[in-house]
Amino acid sequence: MNHIQALKHPIFKIISQSAEELQLSCFVIGGFVRDYLLQRGNAKDIDVVAVGSGIELAKQVSKNLPNQPKVQVFKTYGTAMLRYDDIEIEFVGARKESYNEDSRNPIVENGTLEDDQNRRDFTINALALSLNTSNFGELLDPFNGVIDLDKGIIRTPLNPDITYSDDPLRMMRAIRFATQLNFKIEEASLKAITANKDRIKIITKERIVTELHKILESSKPSIGFILLEKTGLLNYILPELMALKGIDEIEGQRHKDNFYHTLEVVDNIAKTTDNLWLRWAALLHDIGKAPTKKFHKKNGWTFHAHEFLGSKMVYKLFKRLKMPLNDKMKFVQKMVLMSSRPIVLATEVTDSAVRRLVFDAGDYVDDLMTLCEADITTKNPKKFKKYHNNFKLVRDKIVEVEERDRIRNFQPPISGEEIIKAFNLKPSREIGIIKEAIKEAILDGEIPNEHEAAYKLMLEKGKALGLTIHT
Ligand code: ATP
Repeated sequence: MNHIQALKHPIFKIISQSAEELQLSCFVIGGFVRDYLLQRGNAKDIDVVAVGSGIELAKQVSKNLPNQPKVQVFKTYGTAMLRYDDIEIEFVGARKESYNEDSRNPIVENGTLEDDQNRRDFTINALALSLNTSNFGELLDPFNGVIDLDKGIIRTPLNPDITYSDDPLRMMRAIRFATQLNFKIEEASLKAITANKDRIKIITKERIVTELHKILESSKPSIGFILLEKTGLLNYILPELMALKGIDEIEGQRHKDNFYHTLEVVDNIAKTTDNLWLRWAALLHDIGKAPTKKFHKKNGWTFHAHEFLGSKMVYKLFKRLKMPLNDKMKFVQKMVLMSSRPIVLATEVTDSAVRRLVFDAGDYVDDLMTLCEADITTKNPKKFKKYHNNFKLVRDKIVEVEERDRIRNFQPPISGEEIIKAFNLKPSREIGIIKEAIKEAILDGEIPNEHEAAYKLMLEKGKALGLTIHT
């Protein structure tokens, strides 16, 4: 079947003409073709494979383009890249690969298109469209990738055991594509991934995290985490989540399975936000529950201070996975630490409790509410409605308190300097005491968040501390 439709963009004709000038054949391959056939929107990343030098082809294409864009050459990989409009085109020479035990980087030699298709990870990623004038737009599909696209199946072109063992990153990629596309991984592949799971150790943390991000950014991330668990990979990557799995029962009392609960929360939050880090927070919000779990004869199962321990675990987990230890990590920590606060509030929404919540969460109070709403996984429709209504009340109260008291980015209405001046003080303990008293009075609603009221309180507190006003 011909797919000229996919190659409407003028760049493809220019690549075709350039290849002809160099007397080599070339093809669009991989994600672009897959996503075109799936009608997944117009891909901006195009992979071109040349039977010959990909670098020479890239240079020739640049010459033939009106603005002659810069060609970036990656000598070690034998690839070259150029940008045209908002499209990124990567050129590679067709190659044959063989692997070593201890590395995912193959020994490479020049090959045919078939060799190149053989080295691709999945049948749906081995689809190629010809850019040659003789058969422009023809689909070359040696492994029935189109049928797999139709049926929604992830399958390797060659023996899955060898494919995954050669490059274990493909295990993560299989699970990631299954999640993004809502595809099934075929049984033989699932078995091979399970058998090769400990090969994941040779993959860098950064690459693993890239795939985790893509799973989390999907519309139903639980698909990926269930597959990671089922194949045993989760134990290597996120043992903290694995530890949440299972239900204990003592004296007839059971707790919920916090692994599956977590996945429900992640799926819920994926429906309401694209914020990757909020999705991470949902994934990790209960990780403190495994190490804090206790059974009390009187109270049943408890997870005392799991939010606090969980937020500490976030740091260790980010560090282990070589994720950024910056404001993103701090955000996730804050969400985990505060994840139960609005729940406590929902039963009794007082102004001062809401003010404290806004003070502690700052700009992230809306994200925190979104997390808490996603955390409602009860199957009882009455409770479901009630909990959502309670949070609606909390949200309304936040808006009300915000309008009145502007607590979100709290700046004390009286500065330390003003206190020093008023009482003619040297830097001393009293300044802190007075500032803290003003902040507490505002948060408790005893005085409004205004200068005049705060100044009055400062005078009172100063007097109580035995200070005299400086005139
Ligand atoms: P996406 O852009 O969603 O990640 P993609 O398929 O374009 O999808 P890339 O990582 O850009 O993914 O890879 C481009 C192509 O290179 C793939 O379609 C596949 O044919 C091949 N490929 C990438 N990584 C591997 C791998 N580890 N093993 C074998 N082939 C791979």
